[in-house]
Amino acid sequence: MKIYDLVIIGSGSGLNIASKAIENNKKIKIAIIEKDKMGGTCLNRGCIPSKMLLHYSDVIETIKKSDDFFIKSNIKKIDYKKIITDVNNQINKDSLEILSFYKKNKKIDLYQCEAKFLDNHKIKVKDKIIYAKKIVIAIGARPNVPKIEGLDKIDYLTYVEALKLKKLPKDITIIGGGYIGVELSLFFYSMGVKVSILEKENILSGLDNEIVAEFKKDFLKKIKVFEKANIKKIDKKNNKAVIFFNNKKIESEKVLVVAGIKPNTDLIDIENTDIKLDRKGFIKVDKYLQTSVKHIYAFGDCIDSYFFKHSANFEAKYIYSRIFERNRERITYPNVGYSVFSNPEIAGVGLKLKEIDDRYFVKKAYFKDIAQSMICKGKAGIIYLIFEKKTKRLKGSHMVCKNASILIHVLIAFMEKRGKLDDMKKMIYIHPSFAEIIKRGVLE
Ligand SMILES: Cc1cc2nc3c(=O)[nH]c(=O)nc-3n(C[C@H](O)[C@H](O)[C@H](O)COP(=O)(O)OP(=O)(O)OC[C@H]3O[C@@H](n4cnc5c(N)ncnc54)[C@H](O)[C@@H]3O)c2cc1C
Repeated sequence: MKIYDLVIIGSGSGLNIASKAIENNKKIKIAIIEKDKMGGTCLNRGCIPSKMLLHYSDVIETIKKSDDFFIKSNIKKIDYKKIITDVNNQINKDSLEILSFYKKNKKIDLYQCEAKFLDNHKIKVKDKIIYAKKIVIAIGARPNVPKIEGLDKIDYLTYVEALKLKKLPKDITIIGGGYIGVELSLFFYSMGVKVSILEKENILSGLDNEIVAEFKKDFLKKIKVFEKANIKKIDKKNNKAVIFFNNKKIESEKVLVVAGIKPNTDLIDIENTDIKLDRKGFIKVDKYLQTSVKHIYAFGDCIDSYFFKHSANFEAKYIYSRIFERNRERITYPNVGYSVFSNPEIAGVGLKLKEIDDRYFVKKAYFKDIAQSMICKGKAGIIYLIFEKKTKRLKGSHMVCKNASILIHVLIAFMEKRGKLDDMKKMIYIHPSFAEIIKRGVLE
């Protein structure tokens, strides 16, 4: 039986630990176990392909708006086949490069199979058993598919298939209005597909209503949204899916289900260990990202944390420091921002409007009031800045605005450095940049 200093299960953010460990530790022996393509969700079926597709959308939407700038243009053809091939070729190339790197590396044994725990130290990999002194579980999650009568009778898509779809449908119904549903809806819309979203609550329900309301001004012109949609059943009729919800029905060629994620903890025979799961199947970890078994860590999408690639990267860095640098501190997350890569983008950090009380005050500004709005002939956009009354410190900010995913970093930095309203007022904001929406907000 081979004995390893460290076994990492999952080659998404788990590779952050592996790569640093082999770089900095001469005698280490590590095993990585991966059942699928190298690089995990972000590279193969998440952040990267979705944002690549959205970049195509941006190009298309810019061309469509060229008339506003007295430039006559028309889109002769959108070669969807080439788009989807390009995206998938690029991510496959990246994944294969990662594979080749790890296959060649002498300090690492790569097992390309499903990991199955036999006990707290032993793991079955195909027909072999390996022994791990320490283990990191970074097995991520997969699409959650809700129980809906008739769904199993149709050839539905999840984000995994949607990002590889060979042929565009004429129309698509997306079940789920979270950020993935919203982003993919905009991609399909740009490709000329008629898109509807059925959402059991409200779209982007985790965000503030004020932000979503601003976002919807443009979004609803493109996408048909049914909120509080209680889906009763789905039938198949003439190769179309008919979805019955509330007292309505909707027909479409394709159905895309993006109703959250489900941790992959049911795939590793975790019951053979002393690791504990929570009600939803996520691995329970303490403030040190240790599971109920001290030598086993877990992080990323398989624990109930942030579900972002950037937070998983942070956690990986922390676990590395615990294992290899004797860090004894508990994990303290800095301010974790989020972004919806829609058009316009949404981004935010810290406290939300729905979370504050009279200990806070709010400043807001509209995109239409800054010079960039005139320059790019766009009106939609708003920013909210939340300050603590006592300290005047910035405690949160949320915005809908072109480039929001970039702008938010100014506010993340301010929050990180415990910046106060006066500090933000003192700063010079470049004119006429998008950042002037922040200036407008703080000077309000
Ligand atoms: C469509 C989409 C868009 C997204 N966009 C963004 C974005 O813009 N920004 C952002 O921050 N986040 C985004 N995310 C979320 C982000 O991708 C995840 O939070 C992140 O990738 C999680 O990383 P992880 O390492 O925890 O898991 P993963 O990257 O999923 O890695 C887990 C790995 O473990 C493997 N595995 C599972 N079980 C086993 C087993 N038993 N044996 C061996 N291997 C196993 C899996 O095959 C997988 O490769 C997006 C997600 C999706 C689905």
